[in-house]
Amino acid sequence: MKTVKSSNLGYPRIGENREWKKTLESFWASTINEETFSTRMKKYRLHHLQKQKNKGIDYIPIGDFSYYDHVLDTASMFGLVPKRFAHTSGPVSLSTYFAMARGNQAAHACEMTKWFDTNYHYIVPEIENKEPELVENKPLHAFLEAKKELNIIGKPVILGPFTFLKLAKGYKKEEFANILNSFVPVYTQLLSELADAGAKLVQVDEPYLVMDITKEEMEIFSNLYREIVTNVPNVNIILQTYFESVSHYEQLVQIPVKGIGLDFVYGYKENIDAIERFGFPEDKVLGVGIIDGRNIWRSNLLESHQIINKLSNHVPFKNQILQPTSSLLHVPVCLEQETGLDPIVKDALAFGDEKLDELRLLRDVTNDPTQSSLELLNRHQQSFEKLNESNWRVRKETAGLPTKRTKEFQERYQLQNQKWNLPLLPTTTIGSFPQTKEVRKARFKWRKGELSNDTYEANIKSMIARWIRIQEELDIDVLVHGEFERNDMVEFFGEKLNGFAFSKNGWVQSYGSRCVKPPIIFGNVSLDKPMTLNETLYAQSLTDRPVKGMLTGPVTILNWSFVRNDIPHQEAAYQIAEALLKEVQSLEHAGITMIQVDEPALREGLPLKKEKHNTYLNWAVEAFRMSTSDVAETTQIHTHMCYSDFNEIIEAIKELDADVISIETSRSHAEIISAFETNIYDKGIGLGVYDIHSPRVPSEEEMTSTIERALSVLPAELFWVNPDCGLKTRGEKETVAALEVMVKAAKSARNQL
Ligand code: GLN
Ligand code: ZN
Repeated sequence: MKTVKSSNLGYPRIGENREWKKTLESFWASTINEETFSTRMKKYRLHHLQKQKNKGIDYIPIGDFSYYDHVLDTASMFGLVPKRFAHTSGPVSLSTYFAMARGNQAAHACEMTKWFDTNYHYIVPEIENKEPELVENKPLHAFLEAKKELNIIGKPVILGPFTFLKLAKGYKKEEFANILNSFVPVYTQLLSELADAGAKLVQVDEPYLVMDITKEEMEIFSNLYREIVTNVPNVNIILQTYFESVSHYEQLVQIPVKGIGLDFVYGYKENIDAIERFGFPEDKVLGVGIIDGRNIWRSNLLESHQIINKLSNHVPFKNQILQPTSSLLHVPVCLEQETGLDPIVKDALAFGDEKLDELRLLRDVTNDPTQSSLELLNRHQQSFEKLNESNWRVRKETAGLPTKRTKEFQERYQLQNQKWNLPLLPTTTIGSFPQTKEVRKARFKWRKGELSNDTYEANIKSMIARWIRIQEELDIDVLVHGEFERNDMVEFFGEKLNGFAFSKNGWVQSYGSRCVKPPIIFGNVSLDKPMTLNETLYAQSLTDRPVKGMLTGPVTILNWSFVRNDIPHQEAAYQIAEALLKEVQSLEHAGITMIQVDEPALREGLPLKKEKHNTYLNWAVEAFRMSTSDVAETTQIHTHMCYSDFNEIIEAIKELDADVISIETSRSHAEIISAFETNIYDKGIGLGVYDIHSPRVPSEEEMTSTIERALSVLPAELFWVNPDCGLKTRGEKETVAALEVMVKAAKSARNQL
């Protein structure tokens, strides 16, 4: 008798109707008190557990529920509160917890950054020479609660010390091993309290093991867990990894824990190779990450079934636990409310709850491969295949698009300069202007059908006209129309391109209470009619100065969508690129010959493992070039990038071959300047001269010194003056004031040249 089990690694927090988000925001706005807040949160927490129980999951994760973020939970559980929040001792209060996440009057918030290569952001722990201490055993509370209220013996999920410390800041690299050691006693205490309470299996997440860690680091890791296991021999730990294959499989499986969890979707090849090569210890269980926890498509369960069977040559079924590849935090909750999708598309989707159904089906078929269960598997497979066979999907080639401009940059730029005759250090902005309440309200009404197309368009036009006038008055050299018609830089294009669908309720948590609803790329991407021509031409008709066309690039559209999973990302990017090229050419034909193609998410798609960087960057650059190369030499292609670690991708940035790039700079000025010291950049470039993230209006001196520093490493003929990023989140008054200072600073810098 086979007895393969099923497990979940984490469940979405936000709830079917984002009730979690709403409760959080009501609490922050003080419309509900702490008691109501806790009561409601408890209700959601238990509801999520009950749902998983009803789905027949054998190991239900507990402690994954959070009021904000699980990394922040871990830091506050260990009393690691930065001094500026004036926490003294004992459990961290709710107000301090949220202050760390969001800042308060007295102290700025902790930094927030991306969780591996996902679009989820975690709060960066700050170590500050503080010894960790278990001020509150959060997973234990959750464990006891689940047991008492629902009679569920949950599987506590905790973030492991190695990953936690790797993700933290505020210590020197050399101190890593020592500080890590200081976590042994607290993890020992945490785990033994869980064991005493009756926890049978504890999931300790160590996703950092999939990063490029050194042998020495792996040694430190192994020793750490040896010590913990020696201290708490009566608790069964499963070391859980995800998002990629592990870097040191052979060492990992020698650690005397109960189990190891691996990703057999994103790290399939390497992980399975390692198992075949080194075997898998008989006394351990293997967490088989087999249902994609990061994408929204149904699994090919026949394939999954084969993988499990293949694995059973090395790991007997009784030692396999079937599970999603990662926490389901990264996918929407359930499909139930998606009544607007084409049935063929809908039938091919699996959100969080449907993934748990898949897991159960896979488990049951594996344990009992009778006729009827195989029949279920087949039926599942059919709807999966229906979409793939539909004519939306039959692959379309994107062959033959040029990826090279016909002249080199130097020559082009000269022609472009002659054409526009702009002053040195030309001034411009990144695209969007403040989206005031009125703009949003009008869009909302228009979408609901309460505002006619004409009225809505007139509304947008009047905003454009207003801002063209403002930009002229400010004496900005290259103008933009302001993006008032766009609600989001990907959704706007997705709605106009073929091959995209939009869910009603497909929200996922991005950070804190903020959720995003990524478009779904279900078919071939193509373009029927221009997307941005009307607004851009209207803006241009109002001024003699050049107006930049404004598009979102192929890689960013791809990285911020749920992508079809039957073709490589690379090809999906090429399809988008082809559609965008059409748009670029429509603009060009209509006389808009400065065109910005934004790629703020280029860095984001960078694979976790260095050895995969080049492959990604090559196709990403190629996709950008496909969308921008087949234009006249006098057409000036701009691009824009938000903050990223430029050293890692600077060669790729050069390869984009854009005539002008604008880059967010203020959050890391010194670092970027030094990147350009060692790396000659010889195309047009605007290093943002002021931070757009705060309402503060910087002084002329500040901007001037930024310009001067930039000019110490970049030639003046190539330098542009612009803010860091789009201005849509700012107020009008501060925007005008800041731009006024910016133009002044540019002019005085010009006079110095
Ligand atoms: N053009 C976009 C804007 O100005 C760019 C946004 C971004 O970089 N994220 O809003
Ligand atoms: Zn930006």
